[in-house]
Amino acid sequence: MNGKIHSIETLAGLDGPGLRCVIFLQGCPLRCAYCHNPDTWDTSSGTTYELPEVIKRILKCQPYFNKNGGVTFSGGEPFAQPEFLLELLKSCKINNIHTAVDTSGYFLDDTVKECLKYTDLVILDIKHNEENAYKKLTGKPLKNTLEFLKYVSQQNILLWLRQVIIPGINDSPEHIKEFAGLIKTYSKPQKVELLPYHTMGIKKWEELKLKYTLMNVKDADIEMVSTLQKLLNNFLQQDRP
Ligand code: SF4
Repeated sequence: MNGKIHSIETLAGLDGPGLRCVIFLQGCPLRCAYCHNPDTWDTSSGTTYELPEVIKRILKCQPYFNKNGGVTFSGGEPFAQPEFLLELLKSCKINNIHTAVDTSGYFLDDTVKECLKYTDLVILDIKHNEENAYKKLTGKPLKNTLEFLKYVSQQNILLWLRQVIIPGINDSPEHIKEFAGLIKTYSKPQKVELLPYHTMGIKKWEELKLKYTLMNVKDADIEMVSTLQKLLNNFLQQDRP
């Protein structure tokens, strides 16, 4: 079996616990206005890898994973190649390697559900809380992500949630309160992270001759995002036993 991979990053420290090998799979159905990897969208591009080749790369990193590191499958959207991802996840588990999948939660078919059986941690990026704004920002409906969130919670899979804070779009305290409400309705994540929007991806959009619609939006202020994070944590703590 083979699959399309955008890139492989060894020993990254951000996408999951500990030191990680991050496999960026090619292909994504969303079109996020701030995407910093639009070159991952097209499933027909990227590099074709045979399954054993990828496993070999992962096993080479294994000595560095220590107790809590492992492999994170990211993208693009990793579930856009569910059969390939399933085999990769199974191989990791056979080799006793911690697995995380970084996803937008757009897909939830039987193969995705099978993949989730071999996933130790789901990192779910909820781009916006509100249906119309989500559609405007990503080109796709929010309901898929909410169904995914619900399923992952029902299956008791360890969950981290994320949202990128974009000035003027989702940076108000009201929005953060709504986000907390949505999280509490559907799930009990171990961690929720707000990430600052940045403009570093614009160059790639220009290279691909794509129209960047957030051209007038500045990078999110780190202090502001940290204040919103505290506010969110407070909302999430409220009413918790
Ligand atoms: S889900 Fe990720 S890869 Fe896909 S468009 Fe959005 S930011 Fe880009």
